[in-house]
Amino acid sequence: MSVRVVARIRPLLKAEAEKDQILSIHEGSDGKPQIVKIPNPKSQNEEYSFAFSAAYGADISQQGLFDAEVAPTIKHLFQGFDVTLFAYGVTGSGKTHTMRGGKLLADRGMIPRLLSSIFRKSKALEKSSHGKTTVDVLMSYYEIYTDKVFDLFEPPEKRTTTGLPIREAEGGKTVVAGLSEVPCSSLKEFEFLYDKANANRSVGSTKLNAESSRSHAILRVKVTISTATESRASTICAIDLAGSEDNRRTGNVKERMVESASINKSLFVLAQCVEAISKKQSRIPYRESKMTRILSLGQNNGLTVMILNLPPTKAFHLDTLTSLNFANRTK
Ligand code: ADP
Ligand code: MG
Repeated sequence: MSVRVVARIRPLLKAEAEKDQILSIHEGSDGKPQIVKIPNPKSQNEEYSFAFSAAYGADISQQGLFDAEVAPTIKHLFQGFDVTLFAYGVTGSGKTHTMRGGKLLADRGMIPRLLSSIFRKSKALEKSSHGKTTVDVLMSYYEIYTDKVFDLFEPPEKRTTTGLPIREAEGGKTVVAGLSEVPCSSLKEFEFLYDKANANRSVGSTKLNAESSRSHAILRVKVTISTATESRASTICAIDLAGSEDNRRTGNVKERMVESASINKSLFVLAQCVEAISKKQSRIPYRESKMTRILSLGQNNGLTVMILNLPPTKAFHLDTLTSLNFANRTK
């Protein structure tokens, strides 16, 4: 079991000014960029430092991030281990850009690159075994919103108020009952399904961005490698987490408070789990929130990569400090 927590500071947006940048990247003890520094919001002369497995700035491309942090996990996946990939950060920090990305080839995020790589590797494996090995890819995509699970491969009108139930399965795993598992064998096919599912996130919701930033979106890809004598499955989950902003400050009422409470709880438990895994503790409190429970986080001898997305400017000062403190806890 291992964890990498890496920082990604996004570039300035058009509306943001150079002079408002508050974050800087520095080399760590082994001479690689690993430290993020931020001023104390109460005293500009004082700076806080946070260490990561790696820290990436505005110049890292999607391809560069993929090669450094995601491509290495695919090898583990094909060796039969599970992988979990998170994007954590405040709304506007670049989580969706990192995971899903843009339409242009160069802007494609970690998820389409991941799938492309899985399909390429699957085909190479099938070919080199002269058809004796087959690789099957099954996808599920769901969101967790106010602690309820909704299948994103189903249209929104099919949603029930309670969401899908979760159940204990063999081997201590937790499964979502009735969740679609869709076979997929090419990037083209994947992109069609993924775009359609992402549209399901927003149809019927009046506040599109507000809604999607209040839920965790979880893509699960199950890879099964079969020969005449055996069959072995492993999964990779890629998660675009709900915005980590401090909701007490934004003065939320009613539904927003319910959302906030469940987001705060699930992110808090997530931090505790990642911390327990990285400290190699025997007890990982994954049962304490629905998301970590469904992910069986830390249970399947897997690899976890957490990308901490950070916006560079002082408009986000307090939330960024909170994000950095969160990541600090996970080490
Ligand atoms: P989040 O999902 O965390 O709310 P987004 O991914 O929507 O944040 O990013 C906020 C804005 O910043 C978007 O306009 C997005 O296109 C832009 N952005 C984020 N990261 C990058 C990046 N690495 N390069 C270019 N633009 C980015
Ligand atoms: Mg987003």
